[in-house]
Amino acid sequence: MAAHFARRLEGKVAIITGAASGIGEVAARLFTRHGAVVVIADIQDDLAQKVCENLDPSSITYVHCDVTKEDDLKNVVNTAVSKYGKLDIMYNNAGIVDEIKSNILDNEKSEFEKVININLIGTFVGIKEAARVMIPRGQGSIISTASVCASIGGVCSHAYTSSKHGVLGLTRNAAVDLGRYGIRVNCVSPYTVLTTMGLYTLKKIGKDSSNVYSNLKGATLTPNDVAEAAVFLASDESKCVSGHDLIVDGGFTVENSGSS
Ligand code: NAD
Repeated sequence: MAAHFARRLEGKVAIITGAASGIGEVAARLFTRHGAVVVIADIQDDLAQKVCENLDPSSITYVHCDVTKEDDLKNVVNTAVSKYGKLDIMYNNAGIVDEIKSNILDNEKSEFEKVININLIGTFVGIKEAARVMIPRGQGSIISTASVCASIGGVCSHAYTSSKHGVLGLTRNAAVDLGRYGIRVNCVSPYTVLTTMGLYTLKKIGKDSSNVYSNLKGATLTPNDVAEAAVFLASDESKCVSGHDLIVDGGFTVENSGSS
């Protein structure tokens, strides 16, 4: 580590859901590098244990948690507080994408519900459970993972697009509600990054990893770029940022909607 590396999350306690792989895993490593202790929550126990094995055991804990189960999320929050004394950062990152069927007539209600349950209702419960322990302390930063699909249509499935529009709406509403308690609520919105989900999505739309969009010459989005945005929102450097959608897309959204 470079001697000048600033530990921007020193002393903070964070929860990251969906941290057994992809963006969440990279964020867990980056958050601990910045001095946070992190509780990672996921349903993939083996992968999550591997994430922990590669980090200092004093800075990371794994708790099995299915974000569709309210009691699981309550347990993760209670574990963070009982083990580390408080919760400063809640990063609702767990998510799935379904089969991408552009014709709505091909879409099953059950598949739609599954995506909404994980991506949107899981985020709602995550925000609510974090707020339960943050309100008495009068501080906290809640971050959720939305997507470029939160503000434009036609990029992914009906269910995924709806869920991420929901995450953005929820972020804005919760920011207004929780601001009076000193709690900030924001989201991060990536375009395609090469995780399990990113690769699956590219395959479904008939593209490969060499087709990842970037309007920025020489820049290809990585999970680390998204995690760095989350570090900013988690840190005190963003102490006046709330209700914000931090788009990490190399310019995709402005190019495709004319605004961001
Ligand atoms: P990923 O598939 O690598 O990771 C998702 C993680 O969520 C996995 O570890 C998975 O086990 C976990 N998860 C799934 N269902 C869960 C549940 N019910 N309870 C708890 N954990 C569960 O995908 P990723 O790309 O790292 O995705 C992370 C977030 O980023 C998601 O919210 C996704 O929608 C969003 N996102 C991803 C991209 C992309 O291109 N990869 C783009 C925009 C937004």
